[in-house]
Amino acid sequence: MLGDISFKRIDEEKDDLIRLARKIWENPEQGNREFIASDACTELLEKAGFEVERDYGGLPTALRAVYGSGHPVIGLLGEFDALPGLSQKDVCYRDPVVEGGWGHGCGHCLMCSANIGALIALRDEMEAKKLKGTIVFYACPAEETVGGKGAMASGGAFKELDIALCWHPGKFNRSSYSLLTGANSQIFKFYGKSAHAACDPQLGRSALDAVELMDVAANYLREHVPQDVRIHYCIINGGSAPNVVPDYAAVKYTFRALDINTMMDVEKRLHDIAKGAALMTGTRVEVERLGGCYPVLNNHVVADVVDECMRTIPMEEWSTENIEYARKLNETIPEEWKASVAFSKSAPDTQLHVGVMPIDEDNDYGSSDLGDVSHICPSCFYKGACFPIGANFHSWQVAAVTGMEIGFKSMINGARMTALTALRFLTEPELVEKAKEEFARSMTGKKYETMLPDKAEYPPRPVRE
Ligand SMILES: [Zn+2]
Repeated sequence: MLGDISFKRIDEEKDDLIRLARKIWENPEQGNREFIASDACTELLEKAGFEVERDYGGLPTALRAVYGSGHPVIGLLGEFDALPGLSQKDVCYRDPVVEGGWGHGCGHCLMCSANIGALIALRDEMEAKKLKGTIVFYACPAEETVGGKGAMASGGAFKELDIALCWHPGKFNRSSYSLLTGANSQIFKFYGKSAHAACDPQLGRSALDAVELMDVAANYLREHVPQDVRIHYCIINGGSAPNVVPDYAAVKYTFRALDINTMMDVEKRLHDIAKGAALMTGTRVEVERLGGCYPVLNNHVVADVVDECMRTIPMEEWSTENIEYARKLNETIPEEWKASVAFSKSAPDTQLHVGVMPIDEDNDYGSSDLGDVSHICPSCFYKGACFPIGANFHSWQVAAVTGMEIGFKSMINGARMTALTALRFLTEPELVEKAKEEFARSMTGKKYETMLPDKAEYPPRPVRE
């Protein structure tokens, strides 16, 4: 049976995979500084006999490890960065390890373990069954901040792939057809002339006026963009004293849309607005690009295979203690928040999801740098039941479950889902072709170029004794 060897191997690797996940959870690190996580992944991969490419694509924590040869080439994408302010012990009440510190409130601590488990398992099954094809594991840094996958892609990553798979812990076991918005962040810097605001206002040219006029115009723009566009801004420099005409002011924008061409149109119009604001105020504008990510295009062919595999794999069962722990966490979540995440609709009496939800078709207004990969090859971003069912992404309740048994069971399920999905593509080449045909259709009129920041600076790897 397809997957039998893989599932057995994942069970044998369980202790090491859990140790790795726990280590990453105990050492929550900021994007592009995931040195402990990157070293721990390398150690486990090397122990399992893989050669690991470190500093992949020039990113100090990115990794690549490969098994097999020839097509199809299947990518397994893991992440390992944490979030600020979500430090949390593995207890079912709010108790940070470090007050205000970092924590795994999105569960990325589980993603590399799940994928390394799948990689090790797939090697066994491919060897035993003489399956042709290549499995590539990537550890992808900085998903939460600058979009590490785009930076990796600019170095040529993911071009080798026929299919990309990205399992992420979530509320439900659920595959996805959804689109997620892309996001692009830029700082508009205005330069004017300072003057005494009371004695010589005629000599001044206010950079703050330019920022305010830009923001007013951007708010008018909202009425004339498609419904899926989101525009957010904050003024990051508005001068320093009311009696001095500000000669410098800056505003940071993030804009999003479900289609890359819409995003590019919004960008052009915001740039025109900024030029108009500069012209009106006699100032000059410069734009600094902070980078961003593409909208996620979930490939329906891949999503269907993921869904079928989720329904086939043996799932870890929640113990009475797991359910009780989740129940206490669910109690800490406000009712209106639970309602907003379809708590009651999906599973009224469940603290942790059991089973497989129908494939998600609702679009999502958050963003993921998997969007970049999904514009390079057919991709799927699918979730595994892990969170207390009322909890949302980026919450301390998620950090409270991802370093203990609930998270580890979800990670093992994720390894199985990913391994079986990869095996389906390795053994059914017509599925790969169908996924590629759909990908080609979805890319009509679009092209992929990374949205790299103007200044990409990576911290050096720390020296250890
Ligand atoms: Zn995440």
